Amino acid sequence: MDALDRLDAEISRCRLCPRLVAWREEVAATKRAAFRDQTYWGRPVPGFGPHDARIAILGLAPAAHGGNRTGRIFTGDRSGDVLFAALHRAGLANQPTSTDRDDGLTLTDTRIFAAVRCAPPDNKPTPQERDTCAPFLHREMGLIRPHLRVVVALGGFAWAAFWPALKAVYGVAPARKVPFGHGVLWQTEGAPALLGCYHVSQQNTFTGRLTPGMLDEILARAKALAGAN
Ligand code: SF4
Repeated sequence: MDALDRLDAEISRCRLCPRLVAWREEVAATKRAAFRDQTYWGRPVPGFGPHDARIAILGLAPAAHGGNRTGRIFTGDRSGDVLFAALHRAGLANQPTSTDRDDGLTLTDTRIFAAVRCAPPDNKPTPQERDTCAPFLHREMGLIRPHLRVVVALGGFAWAAFWPALKAVYGVAPARKVPFGHGVLWQTEGAPALLGCYHVSQQNTFTGRLTPGMLDEILARAKALAGAN
């Protein structure tokens, strides 16, 4: 077990945010009808993917009936269906689907984690919950720092969570605020590049705001930035 395994285990036991602990456990107990036969994870969801990944994908938080059910980030929900299909097309995942923790999925050169590790009500963590969870992100980025070359931020929340992590891990801050946008790239010497991507939420993918083609372009750019082509 290495330091990142130990961090993953520590994260999965965390109970620091009372509102989120109550919510994740309530969802796990009441369940969605379609999953009533399953035992929900009901705990914080650690990162997933190789420890020497050059590409990181940073999300917002686990979904109540996705990661909070299966125990693996973006696994078992529609957002994950879109993301893992794209990762597979990009050659970064061995299969296009992600249904449960034992489905055989492996990622290549890619680690996925969230800014907040517990499922929040309405997908909206409070600023206090975001800040309480931030050290986990900072520690995880610190541990994968030797290989990390690019972070793909899925949505504005993840984009905003990157900057404190950058400061904490690399001691770097941008000269001025960099607004989030799909396809926006920020780079500086001695730190991973940051690439913005609309979140893979149903709200974006069902409406066509984020298409599979747009996601393919982002992942192709991420691979090029990471030297993973
Ligand atoms: S959100 Fe983060 S800090 Fe809060 S209980 Fe979950 S793992 Fe712990």
